[in-house]
Amino acid sequence: MTEFAIETPPIVALPIAGSDAKFPVRRVYCIGRNYAAHAIEMGHDPDREQPFFFQKNPNNLDPSGTFPYPPHSSDVHHEAEVAVMLKSGGTNIPIDAAESHIFGYALSLDMTRRDLQGAQKKMGRPWEIGKAFERSAPVGPIHPVTETGLLNEGAVVLKVNGEVRQEGDMNQMIWKVPEMISYLSDYFELAAGDVILSGTPSGVGPVQRGDVMELFVDGLGVLQVKVT
Ligand code: MN
Repeated sequence: MTEFAIETPPIVALPIAGSDAKFPVRRVYCIGRNYAAHAIEMGHDPDREQPFFFQKNPNNLDPSGTFPYPPHSSDVHHEAEVAVMLKSGGTNIPIDAAESHIFGYALSLDMTRRDLQGAQKKMGRPWEIGKAFERSAPVGPIHPVTETGLLNEGAVVLKVNGEVRQEGDMNQMIWKVPEMISYLSDYFELAAGDVILSGTPSGVGPVQRGDVMELFVDGLGVLQVKVT
């Protein structure tokens, strides 16, 4: 057995609906501007030239149901997303084989310090301080694909304090889930435990302490997260 020189970091393990087993997380990839209406609201043209990705840290995923308002920002936005969990991976995965690597899906939020992200964008710098901060990705239980079937359509709705803020449909994704898996596998080696946040529909906006966010996606139940 390996002896470690320091305390070993815990494995990030997410709950699976209807199971006592947990899903261990390896990497977290997030796609940017994957719904046309959201690209437009962020001041960009929607296009299919090239998708782009950034990463969050595995332990940014947080199933606790609370989101502590992070420091150094006064403009923290919700982005409602479907997370795709992989049970296997590889490189150069063809699009028509991509869905065979899916373990399941979960509701998730790509919480964003928009003011910090905007400043980084202006300076042409990386986005981590806007995107990959502590507990920046609230996530619901994983629904195995064996239960849900493959998800390529379905309403995505985010309410804040009961009021609809974001509304779209998975069928509006510019890059579909199998295309994202295939594209990522051309640049990275994908593997079991990888998670892909599949982008957000339009209507992103700020939250305040005390707000309750509720995300609904057909087939994935409800994710309720309180801003504390
Ligand atoms: Mn996002």
